[in-house]
Amino acid sequence: MIPSNRRDVLRAAAAVGTVALASAAPVARAAPRIAKPSPQVQPALGYAPDALAPAISAQTVDFHYNKHHKGYFANLAKLVAGTAMAAASLEDVVLATAGKPDQRALFNNAAQALNHNLYWQSLTPGGSAPMAALEAAITRDFGTRAALEAELAKAAMGQFGSGWAWLASDAGKLKVLATGNADTPLTMGMTPLLVIDVWEHAYYLDKQNRRADYVAAILPLLDWAGASARLTA
Ligand code: MN
Repeated sequence: MIPSNRRDVLRAAAAVGTVALASAAPVARAAPRIAKPSPQVQPALGYAPDALAPAISAQTVDFHYNKHHKGYFANLAKLVAGTAMAAASLEDVVLATAGKPDQRALFNNAAQALNHNLYWQSLTPGGSAPMAALEAAITRDFGTRAALEAELAKAAMGQFGSGWAWLASDAGKLKVLATGNADTPLTMGMTPLLVIDVWEHAYYLDKQNRRADYVAAILPLLDWAGASARLTA
């Protein structure tokens, strides 16, 4: 049964979407630099499902990518159907709905779709090294990559319940932070560079409740070259 306010929620979302799309600046916040706006279509995995094993098993990738991540896109498609939001980028939907209690379902599904896009892009088999600009920024803001990785691990472990640990660029300055549920530094005016999913579905099949083991296992798989590209986009 469809809640009686469903139509109003969608109408409000569509109105916001129209305003956001018609305006050069979608929201009043500082606009993060987005190299290429993400369409409302789940991107292909950039590697085989078993390519991250044993840190992340093929079974976990299968459930995570084909059930959880895909599910957010499916929910989002239902929520935006027939509204102006249907043509918006994921970033625009997230920015237009953040902090609006009557659009929480739309925000949650768009943000989770977008956050997972970056999660899969944050990992690469065997890991990679940062390019010069990111290397210099890491040295400036954290001293060493090991120190930055320790901060990331601390943020991942310190997030109570479901959420994300991020490396983001705040107008060029690197910041490590954690967010709860679907929240993203994008809505704080930052450009997300790397993210670690710390929802239990990201690791429970492989590590059960041992989040620390999961975080330690995937730090060597981080795609610092990809983060470099996002920093200088
Ligand atoms: Mn997830």
